[in-house]
Amino acid sequence: MIQLNTYEKKLSEQISSLKKSSGSHPPSIYTVIKSLENLSIKVDSCFLSNPYATEIFLKYFNDDIIENNKIRDLVEFYPSQNSVIAESLAKTIDIPKENILIGNGTIEIIQYLSLFLSIKKMVLILPTFSSYYEFLPKDTSIIHYTLNKEEDFQLNIDNYIKFVKIHQPDTIVLINPNNPNGRYIDLIKLEYICESLKEVSNIIIDESFIHFAYEDETLSPVSSSYFIHKFCNVTIIKSMSKDFGIAGIRAGYCLLPKIKIEQILSKGFLWNSNGLSEYFFDLYSRSNFQKEYEEVRTQYIKQSISFFHSLKSIDQIKAYSSKANFALIELLDGSKSFEFVHKLLIKNGIYTRDCEDKIGLNGEFVRIASRKDEENQYTLSAIKNLYK
Ligand SMILES: *Cc1c(COP(=O)(O)O)cnc(C)c1O
Repeated sequence: MIQLNTYEKKLSEQISSLKKSSGSHPPSIYTVIKSLENLSIKVDSCFLSNPYATEIFLKYFNDDIIENNKIRDLVEFYPSQNSVIAESLAKTIDIPKENILIGNGTIEIIQYLSLFLSIKKMVLILPTFSSYYEFLPKDTSIIHYTLNKEEDFQLNIDNYIKFVKIHQPDTIVLINPNNPNGRYIDLIKLEYICESLKEVSNIIIDESFIHFAYEDETLSPVSSSYFIHKFCNVTIIKSMSKDFGIAGIRAGYCLLPKIKIEQILSKGFLWNSNGLSEYFFDLYSRSNFQKEYEEVRTQYIKQSISFFHSLKSIDQIKAYSSKANFALIELLDGSKSFEFVHKLLIKNGIYTRDCEDKIGLNGEFVRIASRKDEENQYTLSAIKNLYK
């Protein structure tokens, strides 16, 4: 079992109180470093991004903006309006611009839709990303459909459809792959769910991690964005923070029927983006960037698969199967999740996500993101050392 020594216990208490004050999302790495000077952080495996993609972005940003002296323009001028940025994204993802709303990160969109869709009753799959219930009005009825660890958190599709039909919610949420467990629903099955639940007013599909998912060994990109043409009750939500490693820029979008986009734009969202996010969406449309991104996307998936495979070989933990860029692990030796997380942080400078606040998880769970290959190797040996 993992034991904290006196010094570690003292720091551990400080980390716990830091976490308490940051609500349902863990404190960012900056907050942790700033508040606890004795800690040096080597690997951030709490935040779920592709570090290789960040590097490509920075390379282009340096050439286009810094070297060309364009930074002043980004700061001084208004960015383009929402519909103009949507137009540039439309070509990249091959979806009409009339169906696209650009968000200042997708959290902003989730926050807005929580009110705009006038949700009265929601079926929510647990465990989940907390923003889907936190922003709902107090009187919204939320019915939980809890995934089972005994079934490896795999969604039983027919069972789920039956459950939704019995409870008759106006809204359901499907995060694919799901955060925090990483389970993926094949597009054909996801389509079957939408086919079967046409009576549900809003089907929200969050594909913020879909660039890490794959359906065969070619690892070709998958996306459910074409559902927008087939089902008028589907909303697709897509954050760019994780797959492109650019959370600081606040770029995301959602796909909705044209009429809903018009209603939302008539209420605001005019200049909700910023120059950096506009620059990103422009970059995303360029074929050179796309080619380089595709290379690091597949490279990163391969490395993550191998990382998860090695995690599975450690006896004291169970690593659940994942098609996202993180793995949910369960501690099997009686250690508490906070002891595991704090020990790794204090002793090895590795920051992971304690899942004790995630509702629907019954046991001691930690979420670990895949980082660069050498960082993953370091994390693996640190975990093995915990149990020596
Ligand atoms: C991180 C995350 C988001 C929000 O990301 P933004 O940075 O606000 O774009 C949305 N959905 C899921 C499932 C996430 O994990």
